[in-house]
Amino acid sequence: MNYHAPVDDIAFALHHAAGLDRALAEGLYPDLSPDLIEAVLTEAGRFASDVIAPLNRIGDQFGTPFKDGTVTTPPGWKAAYTAWAAAGWNGLAAPVEWQGQGLPQALNAACIEMWNAASMAFGIGPVLTMAAVDALADYGSDELKRAYLSKLVTGEWMGTMQLTEPQAGSDVGALRTKAERAPDGSYRLTGSKIFITYGEHDLTDNIIHFVLARLPDAPAGTKGISLFLVPKFLLNGDGSLGKRNDVRAHSIEHKMGIHASPTCTMVYGDDGGAVGYLIGEEHRGMLCMFTMMNRARLAVGLQGVAIAERATQQALAYAKDRRQGRAPGAADGSSPIIDYPDVRRMLLTMRGLTRAARAICYATAVALDRSHLAKEAEARAAGQGRASLLTPVAKAFATDIGVEVASLGVQVHGGMGFIEETGAAQHYRDARIAAIYEGTNGIQAIDLVTRKLPLEDGAVMRAYLKELSEIIERIRTANDPALGAIAERLAEALASLERATQWLLARLKSEPNAALAGATPYLRLFGVTAGGCMLAQEALAAQRLANGADTASRVATARFFAENIAVQAEGLERTITQGADTVVAAFPDAAA
Ligand SMILES: Cc1cc2nc3c(=O)[nH]c(=O)nc-3n(C[C@H](O)[C@H](O)[C@H](O)COP(=O)(O)OP(=O)(O)OC[C@H]3O[C@@H](n4cnc5c(N)ncnc54)[C@H](O)[C@@H]3O)c2cc1C
Repeated sequence: MNYHAPVDDIAFALHHAAGLDRALAEGLYPDLSPDLIEAVLTEAGRFASDVIAPLNRIGDQFGTPFKDGTVTTPPGWKAAYTAWAAAGWNGLAAPVEWQGQGLPQALNAACIEMWNAASMAFGIGPVLTMAAVDALADYGSDELKRAYLSKLVTGEWMGTMQLTEPQAGSDVGALRTKAERAPDGSYRLTGSKIFITYGEHDLTDNIIHFVLARLPDAPAGTKGISLFLVPKFLLNGDGSLGKRNDVRAHSIEHKMGIHASPTCTMVYGDDGGAVGYLIGEEHRGMLCMFTMMNRARLAVGLQGVAIAERATQQALAYAKDRRQGRAPGAADGSSPIIDYPDVRRMLLTMRGLTRAARAICYATAVALDRSHLAKEAEARAAGQGRASLLTPVAKAFATDIGVEVASLGVQVHGGMGFIEETGAAQHYRDARIAAIYEGTNGIQAIDLVTRKLPLEDGAVMRAYLKELSEIIERIRTANDPALGAIAERLAEALASLERATQWLLARLKSEPNAALAGATPYLRLFGVTAGGCMLAQEALAAQRLANGADTASRVATARFFAENIAVQAEGLERTITQGADTVVAAFPDAAA
């Protein structure tokens, strides 16, 4: 079954849950009209549904054959990528002076969801190029920007992001790839990287690698890492492609999912050293890489939303079509399985989790826009704080639910879900990687608890909690029976989140292992509470706009989420505050 971009749903989430309407009213986006937003989303939806989505299955089956150091992308992929880049999609949120369109990250986030719902293997390549654009625009020298930035913005060349080595995965500071200073001011890189997404391919004439390496006099750990731009082909003086650089793909991985995204082992310096150019300052590469990683983390979160949306669409269609038995109270004949409460529960869970994760990801993008575009320094700082707080939640909550929703999608199909022919299995296989790459979800949870909660002495988190409590208050004062127990259940969830936050903050220094043991359940608690509040906000907005079936569906989703999913908050709180002892004490023999 193919993908139909849910443009109305996406626009609704942007406007009413993520805060785009408020940002528009405040003048954050002076050049952005409602017509422009609609036109961009509609056109992106059309491209994603009509051009990219039909390639998803071909990509899964064909993979990316590797021969003599080259990768062949599946039939139709190069034409689709070229058309996609020519339409300007790669540079949607990139600076106008480098041939981008200067549109908000919020709008780009919505488009990233659609590219990835159409095909995660297709979407992940541009995600990395866009992240590379941000790092180069923020930290590159003028000379490097002139030579490379416009081509990356337009997508004429693609970018890669290279951290991982066999001994350096989550522990980036352990990387060993070497960089040495050359007399002409450039550097020579030797070493190897593994698991590099789109490290080699035939979609573009040049590939620009963004590589972390260590200088000979570098301090140990992450403080001794520098970031280098290493092009596949060096450039001649006039900017045309020159000779091949000393970097090559040695092999590709055979994976569980995203088969059409080539995952390469890269080798540097077989012939004396790959030419690299420093981005930012020596030994301060992690600073630049964080720009890249934060963008990529949000985008990977959007992959979770994307695959969840696609799996939900497919499961819903199947559940209306497939007939089995007779549902209680049904007339003669067999009933579509959607008539059974257990199947409805699965479908509502899929829809609720998908919409909640979407709202969290889009809200992160609006906060990012605020951090750049707000007029007042204070508002920019608040945007930065909010984006920092929400980024690990957007990444990990959305990709965790991506896996869960895709798994439910298989379940709704019964045995046919396990058979590749339906496509439900591909979504499940594809979804799995997003919880692992760009920093595993465990690492995101640790980032949330140890770095984000303490931001500004807890003030960033307190401001967010206050905002959530205001949403709940609005539901309470609406006093509408149609909203069921939304206000009560969300107030309980918020109280659990507040208590768990206090508990963790109090133990970060004195009992760090106890705090770390609760990091993943805490991130989940954060996600279900924030997601529940955002869905409630959507329900209120839908009631205000009173547009019939859509209002009913949004109220039902918000109610289901509050009454069936947000109620997990109390259990999660208990896990965090009362469950750490056994975790910390477990496997005593295994201690190093
Ligand atoms: C398909 C694919 C594409 C990829 N693309 C890229 C790419 O383009 N560029 C790139 O640089 N990398 C890429 N990666 C690598 C990816 O980012 C890493 O696999 C990931 O960061 C995890 O590192 P690891 O595999 O070494 O696992 P490990 O770090 O060994 O982790 C194993 C487990 O231990 C946990 N763990 C590790 N350290 C800690 C800790 N301190 N505290 C708590 N738990 C911990 C992890 O959460 C995980 O559950 C890709 C990987 C894959 C599979």
